[in-house]
Amino acid sequence: MLKIGITGGIGSGKTTVSKVFEVLGVPVFYADDHAKRVMVEDDILIAAIKQEFGSEAYFADGSLNRKYIANIVFNDADRLEKLNAIVHPATFRAFDAWVAQVGHVPYILKEAALLFEACSYKLCDKAIMVYAPLEVRINRVMRRDSISREEVLARNAKQMTDDEKIKLADYTIVNDDTELVIPQVLALHQQFLQMAAAL
Ligand code: ATP
Repeated sequence: MLKIGITGGIGSGKTTVSKVFEVLGVPVFYADDHAKRVMVEDDILIAAIKQEFGSEAYFADGSLNRKYIANIVFNDADRLEKLNAIVHPATFRAFDAWVAQVGHVPYILKEAALLFEACSYKLCDKAIMVYAPLEVRINRVMRRDSISREEVLARNAKQMTDDEKIKLADYTIVNDDTELVIPQVLALHQQFLQMAAAL
């Protein structure tokens, strides 16, 4: 089974594009959703987060106090790195468990905002970068999340630049509201099927 990573800047459309692959029958692991899930389900991870951030990191009902953690890590790169170092191994474990139950398919996608930053692309056979210009991404996210331009830019500043991501990616899908996305997905799908058949 081939493992293909898919990423892109905030609002680039990586989730939207991944859903097109899903329509073609490709199983997709949404890493950010799984990261949120393991933070409330994985006992080892929960204990590590409490040790690092204090028991206030969780509410009495076991749900995560996201605001509390976000306030700590947003302007402190060291604490953010620590949080990632705790969460990423648990997400990798969740990915391995997910892969084990997928069954026999030619390939799967791993959709992750921080595919390159977290180095998880190194565990993938190939990586796709979904690209849209910054202005397009800002407008999409402002509309989707009802947040200000400044908030989108602050989130964007936490990620690698597009140029850095394009260099690390094997393929780029342009999702800039002018190029058609489905033909680009179909072409890659055919390539991945051929690659998987040759394994
Ligand atoms: P994030 O990193 O913030 O999770 P993302 O890269 O996963 O974002 P999406 O959530 O897929 O991006 O897309 C951002 C917004 O732009 C969504 O509201 C989505 O519906 C819209 N969008 C994405 N691609 C297109 C497109 N080709 N045409 C129209 N709307 C689009």
